[in-house]
Amino acid sequence: MLALIEKLKRERILEREEFRALLSGADARADDRLRELARETARENFSNEIYVRGLIEFSNYCQRNCLYCALRAANRAVERYRMEKDEILECCERGRELGFRSFVMQSGEDNYYTAEKMTEIIAAIRARHPDCAITLSVGEKDEETYRAYFKAGANRFLLRHETISPEHYRKLHPPGMELAPRVECLRALKRTGFQTGSGIMVGSPFQTIDNIIDDLYFLAELRPEMIGIGPYLPSRDTPFAGEKPGSAEDTVRLIAILRLMRPDALIPATTALATAEDDGRERGILAGANVVMPNLSPAGAREKYRPYDNKAGRGAEAAEGLELLRARLAKIGYAISAERGDHAEFIEGGRCQKT
Ligand code: SAM
Ligand code: SF4
Repeated sequence: MLALIEKLKRERILEREEFRALLSGADARADDRLRELARETARENFSNEIYVRGLIEFSNYCQRNCLYCALRAANRAVERYRMEKDEILECCERGRELGFRSFVMQSGEDNYYTAEKMTEIIAAIRARHPDCAITLSVGEKDEETYRAYFKAGANRFLLRHETISPEHYRKLHPPGMELAPRVECLRALKRTGFQTGSGIMVGSPFQTIDNIIDDLYFLAELRPEMIGIGPYLPSRDTPFAGEKPGSAEDTVRLIAILRLMRPDALIPATTALATAEDDGRERGILAGANVVMPNLSPAGAREKYRPYDNKAGRGAEAAEGLELLRARLAKIGYAISAERGDHAEFIEGGRCQKT
């Protein structure tokens, strides 16, 4: 096992059977070494600095019906809300005052925000905060729309592929939702020039180790600048209510593997990981994660934006809790970066959108 981990660090990829052995994670000593090497790798690339992004959950309306997510259209138990431009700008303003230079705008797939409306919002944020990064996480759109977002001033886009197995994808979604268009969206985002993020939920219903290995190979090929990995957590308001949650341990192991595969990637310690375990965020960072996304949404919205039950949104997961987050990171030897945290290729390679 230890030799496999050294090989992964050296070659950044393993054979299928080698990945299988590592992912089975039966060996505590190997897990320790994996996290240690991943941590060292992150330190070599990012020192002890953690990038922060202010998360603005601007609408919980969604036209889709993913079987795992409580924001799904068919869920009548959720009180829906959406924010207008001014309210979103206020969130950015507050974030700016708190010290954020990077915003993540996330929502369900809400067609209320036409391409025109959305580009207007993006352009308004860009005009007020020319030095900030704007990340979108608003789902599948056509390439022309992505281009309009980019032209208006958005820099990054998060769209998890969720699973690269078409059969597994069908088990997680209702009839009519297919994997291929999602993967095509990811390719379109890359073509457009976005710093692109993808990833999976760990322990999602019906997921096998082979699915995860295929996801690793897909991520190695796609080379997203950001990789979002969090445990699947059940919601009582979905068809998967009775399914068991993914484990923090498996998630942390996967973060470490991905760090060794992609030393320069931006990998968050996700809210789902912090929800699964009180010290989830710290465990993610100690396994090589280098980003956290505290919540900047207004309190009322925060309560209503819950893809899964008991979502963390207070304390160090809240933007106002930045001092608490700073203290918790300091305890494990890390500091919040003052940079906006672009992927290195977008800074040094000259592809960085300056504004
Ligand atoms: N609607 C956009 C989309 O699907 O890309 C963005 C919002 S969606 C809530 C963001 C991510 O939340 C999804 O990509 C999915 O991986 C994650 N998610 C949804 N339900 C979840 C659950 N029950 N447990 C953990 N993560 C979940
Ligand atoms: Fe909608 Fe995204 Fe949830 Fe799917 S995961 S139901 S697209 S918010």
